[in-house]
Amino acid sequence: ATVFVSGATGYIALHVVDNLLKEGYSVIGSVRSQEKADHILKEFSNDCNLTLEIVPDISALDAFDDVFKRHGKDIKVVIHTASPVVFDPKDLDKDLLIPAINGTKSILESIKKYAADTVENVVITSSLAAQRKPSETNDSTVTIDENSWNNITMEEAHECVRNAYSASKVFAEKAAWEFLKNNADVVKFKLTTVMPGFVFGPQTFVDRSKSKFNHTIEIVRAIANAKTEDELYQCSGTYVDVRDVARAHLLAFQKKECAGERLSLSTSMFCTQSILNVINEDFPQLKGKITEGDPASENETLDNMMSFNNDKTKKLLGFDFIPLRKSIDDTVNQLFEFGAIN
Ligand code: NDP
Repeated sequence: ATVFVSGATGYIALHVVDNLLKEGYSVIGSVRSQEKADHILKEFSNDCNLTLEIVPDISALDAFDDVFKRHGKDIKVVIHTASPVVFDPKDLDKDLLIPAINGTKSILESIKKYAADTVENVVITSSLAAQRKPSETNDSTVTIDENSWNNITMEEAHECVRNAYSASKVFAEKAAWEFLKNNADVVKFKLTTVMPGFVFGPQTFVDRSKSKFNHTIEIVRAIANAKTEDELYQCSGTYVDVRDVARAHLLAFQKKECAGERLSLSTSMFCTQSILNVINEDFPQLKGKITEGDPASENETLDNMMSFNNDKTKKLLGFDFIPLRKSIDDTVNQLFEFGAIN
């Protein structure tokens, strides 16, 4: 069967594409430029089951029309991962909200126009951001599950970047469920959304041409290079390993029980100090070079955070999630390979 993956250059998407090819699927991916396409084809040793198409800007409401006009009749599954993960945008609307929301609408409209009879499953990469407001992370009275929705408003979305990213994910996911409701008699696909927390874990390839990684790998890199407490990148939330995220994207369409579900991918709560503690404990070569922060503060921070319940998702997926320690160890080992740790 043929699977379409949008945003095939992404950190999560490359793992998804890798898993799909290993499981024998034909993959059509969208990327923003020919240069990126050539690079990825090379990384996958020009695998004949991988075709890449150029979709320069997902903000355009007809962004995916050309691709679906040409390939729509072959595509059985669509995995939509493309969405901006940028925290230094020039313009909150143009760089975050519009591409996230329009990208989701445009891919679903193209399916409706050119592949209504062929696409059976659509999997959309949503986020923990769609489950709770950023401010709720540090509220110990909050518990989120598969039914939780971030109720942020468009006005709040424009208050800061953190809110705008969060809103971009929840509005995009809502647009998808809304589309399905309005087009239930026109399209035949089943929808599943995948909502990962902060994603850590190794990248598919050690790509030495890259000077900047995706946002979450940059978080680990910053912490692993922080000489003083002031240099620590502060973040907290739920965590999940990228390899589990990729696996879930495949099971989301392979397992019938996942149809119509929102899969909540969270393994454990974490804060900056949790990552720092793992790095200091497991990489003695960094001792004295990086800060230890305040190792004992981790538990107190975690005690004051929200909690989550994703028993339903774990039962649907049926595999054990990779713990934070292994994920951080594997990420940091790869960063050493890249020469990205001083
Ligand atoms: P990446 O930044 O590595 O991937 C983002 C992908 O989207 C890239 O392929 C990127 O293309 C593409 N993209 C971004 N903006 C546009 C645009 N305007 N037009 C076309 N393509 C665009 O991040 P991740 O792999 O981490 O994220 C993938 C998905 O997972 C996103 O939907 C994100 O919201 C979601 N997610 C990520 C989490 C994380 O912790 N990393 C947590 C929860 C959800 P290019 O390579 O050309 O920039």
